Amino acid sequence: MSTEFSAPLLRIIDDMAPLTERFAAAGYRLYLVGGVVRDHLLGLERGDSDLDATTDARPAEIKALVSNLAEAVWSQGERFGTIGAQINGKPYEITTHRAEVYADSSRKPTVEFGTDIRADLERRDFTVNAMAIDLHEQTLVDPFGGRADLADNVLRTPMAPNVSFSDDPLRMLRAARFHAGYDLVPDPGLLEAIESMGERMVIVSAERIRDELQKLLLLPHAAAGIRLLTETRLLANVLPTLARLDSELIELAGARIEGVGAGVAERWAALLLDVSDVRGTISGLKPAGALTNDVVWLANPDVIRRSEAWSDEDLRRGAAATPGDHRIDELLQFAVAVAAVEKRSTAVALAALARVSDLRAAEPDLDDPQPPLRGDEVAEFLGVEPGPAIGEAMRLIGEHRFVNGPMTADEARALLI
Ligand code: ATP
Ligand code: MG
Repeated sequence: MSTEFSAPLLRIIDDMAPLTERFAAAGYRLYLVGGVVRDHLLGLERGDSDLDATTDARPAEIKALVSNLAEAVWSQGERFGTIGAQINGKPYEITTHRAEVYADSSRKPTVEFGTDIRADLERRDFTVNAMAIDLHEQTLVDPFGGRADLADNVLRTPMAPNVSFSDDPLRMLRAARFHAGYDLVPDPGLLEAIESMGERMVIVSAERIRDELQKLLLLPHAAAGIRLLTETRLLANVLPTLARLDSELIELAGARIEGVGAGVAERWAALLLDVSDVRGTISGLKPAGALTNDVVWLANPDVIRRSEAWSDEDLRRGAAATPGDHRIDELLQFAVAVAAVEKRSTAVALAALARVSDLRAAEPDLDDPQPPLRGDEVAEFLGVEPGPAIGEAMRLIGEHRFVNGPMTADEARALLI
């Protein structure tokens, strides 16, 4: 058997043997593909959470073949040829070989199933991602020289780049991710194709752009990817509000991403700190859940770059205004990291960070201020019916608390008088 594969890769191949045998017995071929092949050839650590396989079997046949081996089967992706299966605790995605072609104006790729591994690999994005392991023979299928490109640090497409990018323009954005993530140098023809085809990004959904950009942002060397987007002018087609900034500010945004923590919101905020409409920019990418509010909260240049000291009142207001379960400390830590990258003093943010923990020790409800009197107690004390006057009184108590700190119920009553 093969000695060209590392022990971890041989273990994956071995884990898959029962599956491989089933496909063979039914007259089909099964191949391991994608990131798992690439990363293991590079000797990189990689968990078993993203195991992609491809086969000439059709989705319904895949489902039948995995059915009594798998603990669970997912068929949400069946229309696109993908069946998910958990086998011995590991998640696999098995996809029918395909020929995926975009209709010129459509946002949805039309999927054509194929029977040929070479054709399937040819339609993948880059040569380094267009390698497969034949699980029956335990050999590498590498028709486009992906292994040599990995060794030589070359990023190129299996097909001519303009053909590949017009099939799926998202690949242009993926080029930035694989450049930054694997230090692969883009082939000159690939760069030219991106320069001339940027507008094609309009047919790609906001969600796909967001997911791909986010994967780029989370890389340790994300700045290289941002630089590629700037140099090819693709940035104007994915984040026009950022592309509009001066080039030094965009370069600084790249540096900031690498300098802040690894959280998703921090990374987006580092990227977008200087754009004029952060909320519009991030919500245009249709992010899930609370991300928009979190990014808008962090990407506030007046707060992040403030040069005057934070008073206790500022900190109380800031602590009460954090979105969700966040704490003001995260905002201040972000400000410290940004100041360090931008070579400004970190003193203001560090002092605030130290002060806020003292303040929280003295005022345990700092992050979620509790009024000393409830609305009905205020109404009873003032002898008025519930109405706008009560809201006004509650606001007065709240404001007083921000300025002076917590008060007792008696102090609140005295204030109302
Ligand atoms: P990661 O390790 O970050 O998951 P990956 O290479 O596995 O990287 P995925 O996005 O998970 O990337 O895709 C799996 C594989 O599917 C890729 O390696 C590539 O072969 C192929 N692929 C993914 N997206 C595209 C695309 N837009 N066009 C062509 N091929 C693609
Ligand atoms: Mg993957």
